[in-house]
Amino acid sequence: LPGMIMRHRPGAATRQGHAHDRTHEYACAMTNPSYPHLFQPLDLGFTRLRNRVLMGSMHTGLEDRAADFPKLAAYFAERAAGGTGLIVTGGFAPNLVGWLKPFASRMSMPWHVARHRQVTSAVHAHDGKICMQLLHAGRYAYHPLSVAPSKLKAPINPFTPRALSARGIERHIRDFATAASLAREAGYDGVEVMGSEGYLLNEFTAARTNRRTDAWGGDAAKRMRFAVEIVRQVREACGPDFILVYRLSMLDLVEGGNGWDDIVAQAKAVEAAGATIINTGIGWHEARVPTIATSVPRAAFAGVTAKLKPHVGVPLVATNRINMPDVAEAILASGGADMVSMARPLLADPEWVNKSRTGRSNAINTCIACNQACLDHVFEQKKASCLVNPRACAETELNYTKTALPKSIAVIGAGPAGLACATVASERGHRVTVFDAADRIGGQFNLAKTIPGKEEFHETLRYFGQRIEDTGVTLRLSTRVDADGLAGFDEVVVATGVTPRSVDIEGHDHPKVVSYLDVLERRVIPGAKVAIIGAGGIGFDVAEFLVETGPSATTDPARWMAEWGVDANFETAGGLVTAHPEPPARKVWLLQRSAGKPGARLGKTTGWIHRATLKAKGVKMLGGVEYLGVDDAGLHVRVDGSEQTLPVDHVVICAGQESKRGLFDALQAKGQRSHLIGGANVAAELDAKRAIAEGSKLAASL
Ligand code: FAD
Ligand code: NAP
Ligand code: SF4
Repeated sequence: LPGMIMRHRPGAATRQGHAHDRTHEYACAMTNPSYPHLFQPLDLGFTRLRNRVLMGSMHTGLEDRAADFPKLAAYFAERAAGGTGLIVTGGFAPNLVGWLKPFASRMSMPWHVARHRQVTSAVHAHDGKICMQLLHAGRYAYHPLSVAPSKLKAPINPFTPRALSARGIERHIRDFATAASLAREAGYDGVEVMGSEGYLLNEFTAARTNRRTDAWGGDAAKRMRFAVEIVRQVREACGPDFILVYRLSMLDLVEGGNGWDDIVAQAKAVEAAGATIINTGIGWHEARVPTIATSVPRAAFAGVTAKLKPHVGVPLVATNRINMPDVAEAILASGGADMVSMARPLLADPEWVNKSRTGRSNAINTCIACNQACLDHVFEQKKASCLVNPRACAETELNYTKTALPKSIAVIGAGPAGLACATVASERGHRVTVFDAADRIGGQFNLAKTIPGKEEFHETLRYFGQRIEDTGVTLRLSTRVDADGLAGFDEVVVATGVTPRSVDIEGHDHPKVVSYLDVLERRVIPGAKVAIIGAGGIGFDVAEFLVETGPSATTDPARWMAEWGVDANFETAGGLVTAHPEPPARKVWLLQRSAGKPGARLGKTTGWIHRATLKAKGVKMLGGVEYLGVDDAGLHVRVDGSEQTLPVDHVVICAGQESKRGLFDALQAKGQRSHLIGGANVAAELDAKRAIAEGSKLAASL
């Protein structure tokens, strides 16, 4: 069967650059000369993908309840309309014990089929193609019925799995085949079998989690048997003209993970068993190496896919931290992969593909890999969305329709809240003028982008700059306005942001005491020893800024891998080597008054990365600190009842912010119709996610 697919696959020639004439004509119509590889169709023999972009699987929270399927269909329809070559859904379990959590998404019963037809027909209406991901959570399942190859608890899950019996294994393989058949019946163009990230199939392939001594464990060949059998029986159940993507863990990033020879053997075996495409999986969920956070260099792991390329004939998909078309094109042009997978970038901008294809890549709303509204939400059991695109997963609820009553609107403040509000209002047909006292747009995002590992944040400002032009917003920079100057506008939106909170401790006016603004705007270059008061998001960022010696490792994949202990040759078991953190530029103390570990309130999926980074740089993080005063000797504190002096050259205040709402109060006093958004509205717990969402929602309602 696999041989048959290969023989009938003209795409094999296409992949090697010998496109037949029809493909060539099609490619010319669809391509952009800047990205010739990205827009070359991929012929799979029985079907053809219109370009090389695969939308990677991502759980959104809309998969679990039948009632949410119209929203899920609208979400995917926008990505299909945006030109995506092949969409992969979030994971659906092939049986109940494979659920990620109780009552989570599942495809195992005939009555599950009907709801999916809404999704597949919505995607097909836009000439898109869509695969359902089959995901068995294994020992990551958050419920007491979980199963695994061996009875070994995952370090990130309180539930201990039951070891599957040999009969249970056979039943599971059949369940995958049944689920794939149901997916086909529901109109899917194929399935993706999830074999990575430390879920059930990956647990079988790795010695770390597979301690079996029967036919399903032991040497590498026996450990991979479960995954290979699933691929074989799914292919048998669904026939030759059905896309079967296998997501292969090419880099486990855990001790006891697979070494390179075992990974090559798995790839060859799943290809022989009937896989049409092999997608790349990087890192288990329990891995202590970041794999998708914003501090991971772009395309950092594309090399592992390229390393596999000579060993298999089926198309390979590179993945992780690919977010702009030039990055994608470079991977494809180097011959290291046949497709690129992007999940979050298509959450951020459903039009990513069409914008790239039509020469509008400057207009892409780039995913900045913050995880704040997507993965963090999913881990908090909330519906996913996107910090830079609050419409993501709200396509049926938040719409920017043309207004029948155009108004003149003034927006004061060109930070994230004001920019979002102004551009959406203008897109809707209002006449919008934005004023900012600064000489550039962006507000505090201009500071965020200076933090090592947050370089991506500049993309959001580039996007808003382009969007101001595209939507026709009038921009008045270097213009501080007061209430008197705004009388002629129908509506005024106040988005004046925040001012840093000062602290009331003895010696707060000592020359050693500076604000984070002084440091990040480089008005003060702190000395060799620094204490930071306040361990919120900004305190952590300032600590990272202070310990970095030069350009951040995010801009240099080799340095980054050395710092995190990733084998740059991708050879060792799990791809791990000893980490070599670079020495810090300064000695830093990061302090907070509340008891407990600093950083506990940082993002669910990224907080540990910030804590690990600072720990590796020797930053002393202390909770339960009482500030006694600052003088020439340094910062005097009481911790655990004992007084000590931190002999620092500078004390940087990162103690939160207060709203800047004087202008709003003045407008209200004058009776001017005005609105308050972003930090100017509520400073506590403010982040750009709330600022952009508030701005966009207000603009949609004006
Ligand atoms: P601001 O960004 O503060 O913008 C307000 C604007 O109003 C400014 O441009 C100012 O010049 C202008 N203005 C004020 N008064 C007037 C006036 N009278 N006339 C004209 N213009 C005026 N958030 C996250 O979500 N994730 C992060 O990772 C993150 N990292 C950060 C890192 C750092 C170092 C900093 C400082 C902030 C970070 N933030 C982060 C917070 C985020 O930047 C803010 O939540 C967001 O910028 C708030 O947006 P805003 O539009 O309400 O206000
Ligand atoms: P924050 O998260 O509210 O942290 C403020 C810190 O200052 C806390 O550690 C607080 O802890 C301390 N503090 C508050 N009042 C104080 C006082 N009077 N004296 C001394 N210490 C005081 O605010 P932030 O760090 O300024 O961040 C602002 C916003 O930007 C946050 O909402 C954050 O979400 C966002 N941001 C996010 C990220 C991210 O990576 N997601 C990064 C940067 C910023 P104690 O009260 O315990 O001392
Ligand atoms: Fe990307 Fe952040 Fe949006 Fe998630 S929330 S898709 S990481 S920009």
